[in-house]
Amino acid sequence: MGAPRGGPARGLGPDRGARLIVRDQADPLFGWRYWQLSPRRLLRSVTQREFEWPPGRVLKALCVEVGHPAPAERCNCGLYANPDLDALRQHGLCLAPDVIVLGQVALWGKVVDDEPNYRAEFAYPARLSLVVDSLIDDTPAETLLEGLSAYRVPVGTTTLDEAVAGMSADMLKFQAMSRRTSGG
Ligand SMILES: [Zn+2]
Repeated sequence: MGAPRGGPARGLGPDRGARLIVRDQADPLFGWRYWQLSPRRLLRSVTQREFEWPPGRVLKALCVEVGHPAPAERCNCGLYANPDLDALRQHGLCLAPDVIVLGQVALWGKVVDDEPNYRAEFAYPARLSLVVDSLIDDTPAETLLEGLSAYRVPVGTTTLDEAVAGMSADMLKFQAMSRRTSGG
């Protein structure tokens, strides 16, 4: 029967259209993200290659572009994670041909829901999975796992197939090889 659905928008407040701050408190949310490995075999950002996640220390977001407290609603700053593993897997092809670590990360403080990602004020890895068929040199997986144990969270292994949609070990090796043979 004729109960109106949808209808005119309710709650036309001043915040309408602003991005939702999902949390502003201490208990964490969890999301998924990729890392790659720094020369010291610690987690580094996929997009900012020089940026290492320090083991044993809470990471606090900074806004390098504007310099305001991070994360701000209308900016790109904050520590990123995707609450949906399947959604994250669809973006895996942006990864550089290098060792990949998939993990769950705890996010807290101010967290902006900036679909498809969360952008958080504080973050720390909650568990880590080394993608064993992303290894591109002869360093044994055990050595890399030992390096990751510095974060003192559960560390395991996974496969490319599980971690990244549409990426095969052969593709990754080919990319790594062509990177090494070009411009050297
Ligand atoms: Zn910012």
